[in-house]
Amino acid sequence: MERALVGDIPRRQEGRAGALSAVGAHRIVVVGGGAGGLELATRLGDRLGRRGRAHVTLVDRSRTHLWKPLLHEVAAGSMDMHDHQLDYLAQARWHRFTFALGALAALDRAARTITVAAVIDDEGGEILPQRQIGYDTLVIAIGSESNDFNTPGVREHAFTLDNTWQAHLFHRRLVNACFRANYAGVGERIDIAIVGAGATGVELAAELHNTIRVLAGYGLENFDPARQIHLTVVEAGPRILAGLPDHIAEGTLRVLTDLGVDVLTSEKVVSVDAKGLKTASGRDVPGNFVVWAAGIRCADVLADLGGLESNRINQLVVKPTLQCTRDDDIFAIGDCAAAPWKDGRTVPPRAQSAHQMASHVSKSIDRRMRGEAPLAYRYRDFGSLVSLGDYDTVGQIMGFISSEKFRVEGWFARFVYISLYRQHIWALHGFWRMALDTLARMIRRQTEPKVKLH
Ligand SMILES: Cc1cc2nc3c(=O)[nH]c(=O)nc-3n(C[C@H](O)[C@H](O)[C@H](O)COP(=O)(O)OP(=O)(O)OC[C@H]3O[C@@H](n4cnc5c(N)ncnc54)[C@H](O)[C@@H]3O)c2cc1C
Repeated sequence: MERALVGDIPRRQEGRAGALSAVGAHRIVVVGGGAGGLELATRLGDRLGRRGRAHVTLVDRSRTHLWKPLLHEVAAGSMDMHDHQLDYLAQARWHRFTFALGALAALDRAARTITVAAVIDDEGGEILPQRQIGYDTLVIAIGSESNDFNTPGVREHAFTLDNTWQAHLFHRRLVNACFRANYAGVGERIDIAIVGAGATGVELAAELHNTIRVLAGYGLENFDPARQIHLTVVEAGPRILAGLPDHIAEGTLRVLTDLGVDVLTSEKVVSVDAKGLKTASGRDVPGNFVVWAAGIRCADVLADLGGLESNRINQLVVKPTLQCTRDDDIFAIGDCAAAPWKDGRTVPPRAQSAHQMASHVSKSIDRRMRGEAPLAYRYRDFGSLVSLGDYDTVGQIMGFISSEKFRVEGWFARFVYISLYRQHIWALHGFWRMALDTLARMIRRQTEPKVKLH
């Protein structure tokens, strides 16, 4: 019998009409443990791994998971990442899958293996060598990163909110700058320029406005945020929150303007340096801190991964079933999948799409293992919400009975916004653990500072 390269798991044998009649457990490899991939690995582990029907492996370049929509709160300091990170090894043990640390580096479709890059520690020493992992079904879910459109200076001088480390680093430097400003007195000014007025950019602006004021209340007596902090949001398009309904954009703009945040539209950023940024119209926007939150692209590794079809932002092109166009054994989900939607558009890169795709592919894998063809995925847009920190939440959601959308704002919108994260926790831990976790956090909030102070 042929052997797999990792984990000593027997290879599958092709059965009738594409059915997967495995001689040993079917090998499912999920690459990327984010909003979509971790939910999928958890479901598959619970359903197939626990009963020995499949061997499920999750591969991720990080050791811990944090739901990406929380990153702007980590950056602003309203959330401590250590309280919300989930250890992949623990989740793997609880839900009967195997965790492999390392970044996807290559794919050999003929041999049905992926290559995982060597893992190197901070001192440059090798922790794990480059390895191959064999699969029968592969799911790629490595998400996206921000797109700097090759704008000069972004890599060197701007922060992104692509991962937990970047968000944490931004917050630490910002707190240091506030301490410095407190010591130096009112002459010291901190300019924060946020590029991109999508949901991430505007949410970050509102969150920062609030948390900096709360931080100042914890003993920074000489620090006056109203005079010393200046926030600007710069957007290339004609209005903020492109793609969202007018009333959400208008409500958001009103809140930001009332807070004193400068919102510049139709201003395309052409360069970033240590002092700030320049726009195509010749405008200079000062910025000791520049955060790049405009557009997405996927990692270069997907550009020609084993000959799979990809688009100009490196997303893998998939069929309506979410199988890659050139290989039925490979699925792509979440931000890294270009899945057909409506009017020639693709499914938007959102946590709700990643969540839906994970459930869909989990069912498709079941069907394939029974010898049935996977069904087409249909994206259901449940609405959009924009959280402006403690100030407001605006958006629209789909009704429970009809598919009509309703405007929501205020505390109800905030409740729905928070429940999106709770839904993710539910998918990862089940209802009772989610409920206990929610209760524990509500109690802990009474005994902790309102913002992260270091
Ligand atoms: C600040 C911010 C706020 C957001 N807010 C919202 C919101 O309010 N609502 C909403 O719907 N969406 C929001 N989004 C978008 C949402 O986060 C994404 O659409 C969603 O996380 C995509 O899920 P995913 O599983 O495709 O990828 P991700 O959740 O990004 O997960 C990708 C995983 O792949 C791993 N990975 C990456 N490269 C490799 C590699 N080469 N090898 C192995 N592993 C790899 C990463 O470590 C990560 O664990 C927000 C995004 C950001 C950045």
